[in-house]
Amino acid sequence: MTTIAWTERDRACWEQELAPWLPARVFDAHVHLFQRASFPPGFEFAPRACYRKFGGQFDFGQCRDIVQAMLPGIDFGMLCFGTPHLETNREEAARYCGEIADGKRFFGMVMVSPEDPAAAVERRVRDYGLVGYKPYRNFVTGKDAEAVTIPDMLPAAQMAVADRLGLAVTLHIPRAERLADPANRRELVELCQSYPNAKIIVAHIGRAYYLSNVVGYLDALAALPNAYLDLAMVNHEGVLEYTFRHFPAERILFGSDAPIAWLRGKSVEINNQYAYLMGEDYAIGTSIHDHDHSVEFTFFYYEMLRGIRLAAERANLSRAQIEGIFADNAYRLLGQVRAGLGKQP
Ligand SMILES: [Zn+2]
Repeated sequence: MTTIAWTERDRACWEQELAPWLPARVFDAHVHLFQRASFPPGFEFAPRACYRKFGGQFDFGQCRDIVQAMLPGIDFGMLCFGTPHLETNREEAARYCGEIADGKRFFGMVMVSPEDPAAAVERRVRDYGLVGYKPYRNFVTGKDAEAVTIPDMLPAAQMAVADRLGLAVTLHIPRAERLADPANRRELVELCQSYPNAKIIVAHIGRAYYLSNVVGYLDALAALPNAYLDLAMVNHEGVLEYTFRHFPAERILFGSDAPIAWLRGKSVEINNQYAYLMGEDYAIGTSIHDHDHSVEFTFFYYEMLRGIRLAAERANLSRAQIEGIFADNAYRLLGQVRAGLGKQP
């Protein structure tokens, strides 16, 4: 059983700040769920990789145990995919997500590399009952990581399948400037317009973890009916408020990036950049570690919920809009995808 003990501060945060406000239904649209079996025998994550905290995997049982302990009483659903490591066996990862997906409360995606033939990707989606794709920059090989473009990650043949089947695609956009990069924004618009029947979920609000990365950059996407945002790992109330004010609430999906989100830490803006302030000694990117234990951290997950609450209050979101972000929008979207797939020959 995987549990994380609540500290007194965690308990106070949940009981006083979150539980009285959080909707009763939470759908997490960004969960990395995988077993060791999706990696080659003997594979180990890097010494400070966050997955080590969970024994080198994060399976359905571990996820359920943590959710029950940390979100007590919540009616939980999720969209899951494996972890986009180059050593992942994408067939096995897709099979595992399919095993969990029931098409009602749990949905899964197939991780795609541009090298995967479109027919193989379609077969995985159909055989395992999945709802779409999760591409990732490091699946694009033979090119400098910073030179990777969105079409590199999602070749036309794969996108033609996604368009024909009406699939969802959760996209972690490339390039150092993220949403501020005009080429990224142009390619996102082209993707949505070229494949209007696909649903493009831009993960982490386009990785905009600091304000100058989002202000002024959502308008083109907001105008596209098949563009969605997930909020994974964003706890910045300014970024969230801007997003709530400038993007249709019915196309915003709560997501966490679990299990990373179950680490103790907080993402902070620093001088038009951001860093993860880490309360635990794991390396998750741009991180600053509190080696002296100067403060008592809670989970990224709770910091996200706090940020969303504050931003929703500032942006005057209605209760229905908040419930939409936390569950209804995702259930509607993924239910549509499943229904569309059911009608396909
Ligand atoms: Zn993720």
